[in-house]
Amino acid sequence: MLYYHFKDINRRLRIGKIICLARTYRKHAEEMNSKVTEKPLLFLKPASSVIFDGQTIIIPRQSKIVHHEVELGVVIGRRAKNIEKKDVMSHILGYLLGLDITARDIQEEAKRNGWPWTISKSFDTFCPISKVVLKEEVDDPYNLDLILKVNNEIRQSSNTRYLIYSIEEIIEFISSIMTLKAGDLILTGTPEGVSQIRDGDIVEAKLGDICSLKLNVTLSG
Ligand code: MG
Repeated sequence: MLYYHFKDINRRLRIGKIICLARTYRKHAEEMNSKVTEKPLLFLKPASSVIFDGQTIIIPRQSKIVHHEVELGVVIGRRAKNIEKKDVMSHILGYLLGLDITARDIQEEAKRNGWPWTISKSFDTFCPISKVVLKEEVDDPYNLDLILKVNNEIRQSSNTRYLIYSIEEIIEFISSIMTLKAGDLILTGTPEGVSQIRDGDIVEAKLGDICSLKLNVTLSG
């Protein structure tokens, strides 16, 4: 069973379902030749794909092209069903830095054929997450730099101010579909600059100055 790690406090919270958004930064939608949708576009990642700071992303045998996507994560603290925007904040426990690792070749094949993205997003180790920072410790979730470096070279550099949907809109929308529970995680989508990671790479990422991750990359044995 997997539990979150917290910054500065000792607390136990089991990792629940992981709901991800796609096309939530305009420049990333453009680089993927994708249209921004009117309503948020959702998919799920299994909790079994979670790893933590210092661990290793494993490139599966089934994929030749694996990409990094750096994202702001929102951790739910209290059950939420059909929540209105004005009430959303009281259901949030905190924030984290997450990577939505993606087998891009498998995803492209799925897109071409109208298949779900599940396989491309769900391999073990495809969801590295940082410690959780409680929301009270975060001045403004809409002004956090999102930076990702591979082998010390910056690949993604943006800010959560460019998110197309607000966190209130996102949680109002998701909670109109599925009940959110304490421990569920929402990954809010990636800005531009996604690119390939390879065997032996070192991936480092930061969310403002509140969260960081450093991971190795290796091929499946
Ligand atoms: Mg993503």
